[in-house]
Amino acid sequence: MAAGRRTSLTLFTIKGIQVRMHWSFPLLLGWVILSSLAEGMELPHMMRQLLYLLIVFCCVVLHEFGHALTALRFGIRTHSILLLPIGGLARLERMPEKPAQELLVTLAGPAVNLAIVLLVGVPSLLLGYHVLGVDPMEDALGPLSLIGFVILVNAGLFLFNLIPAFPMDGGRVLRSLLAFRTDRVRATRIAATVGRVFAVGFVIAAFIWQQPSLGLIGLFVFFGATAELNMVKTQQALSGVRVRDVMRTRFWTMPHDATVQMAAGELLAGAEHVIVVTRHGDLDRVVQRAEIIAAVQGGQQALPLESIPGMVVQAIAPDVDVKEAHHVLSMGASKLIPVVDQGRLVGVLDADNMNEYLELHERTGGGRASR
Ligand SMILES: [Zn+2]
Repeated sequence: MAAGRRTSLTLFTIKGIQVRMHWSFPLLLGWVILSSLAEGMELPHMMRQLLYLLIVFCCVVLHEFGHALTALRFGIRTHSILLLPIGGLARLERMPEKPAQELLVTLAGPAVNLAIVLLVGVPSLLLGYHVLGVDPMEDALGPLSLIGFVILVNAGLFLFNLIPAFPMDGGRVLRSLLAFRTDRVRATRIAATVGRVFAVGFVIAAFIWQQPSLGLIGLFVFFGATAELNMVKTQQALSGVRVRDVMRTRFWTMPHDATVQMAAGELLAGAEHVIVVTRHGDLDRVVQRAEIIAAVQGGQQALPLESIPGMVVQAIAPDVDVKEAHHVLSMGASKLIPVVDQGRLVGVLDADNMNEYLELHERTGGGRASR
């Protein structure tokens, strides 16, 4: 999924975790309203539809917070929780690699839904309310039908998420259980295969039951399984490799007081996409090609490069495991990471470097290069 800053809107932030709504989400709201109007539905019933939709997505957000807050206990932050018409997506900065931790982080989501079912369901059962037997048409906005709906939604979320369709929660549970017995790549390969079989099943079911959202989930699972398998393979290939083995030592730097005009000249002369701006030889910021073009279009040729906001990116040391850098790059926060050794800028690292390294590495027989 793209970095999401342009495709989604932040609703609120809790514990540093942004809850964001994808642009397609308002389409779902619009569709619910329009289809209700087309069916000649009266206002109270339409309000009920919207209220039910709100309940579903509150439960989805709570589910995702279950994952995010459990991950936080293992020191893993979550950038955002993205709301899509087909559900929620917690964007953890990484997944824990220890099977036991992954298992806990994964189970925490469905556990939230199970807890809601029990917290709401048991008291109403004890008090003798038959919340599941209420006719919603008779008691549209009544508390009993709302409670019944909350129970049904959470029971549904609990069961659906535990389907072993990797990378859905159930599939992650399967992967971590397999990873207790075999290596992570093999565990992921098996889970991804099972996931793709379920994905095809979802798409077929979507046609049979005319449920387009199930089809979308099927596609999401199918491509998600492939992407995660590739990521795990990459991480495996990069494990034990140092940043200095992969980094690029030829790169484009310019001092902070060089003008936008000079940078534009260099842009035409070379093929670089990112420029590292230095201040007295030290790393200052990273400016992308598009930012220089925008500055020229804005008539700012005479301004110094330091006037372009660019990106103040975290530098990395040459002896760090390259997997660390891979996490940063795969989150899409920055396209390039400067490598700084004892205060001196010695290289840069980007996704191209890593892909080149991986390709060369693959051709040399797949074993780890000379170490
Ligand atoms: Zn989940």
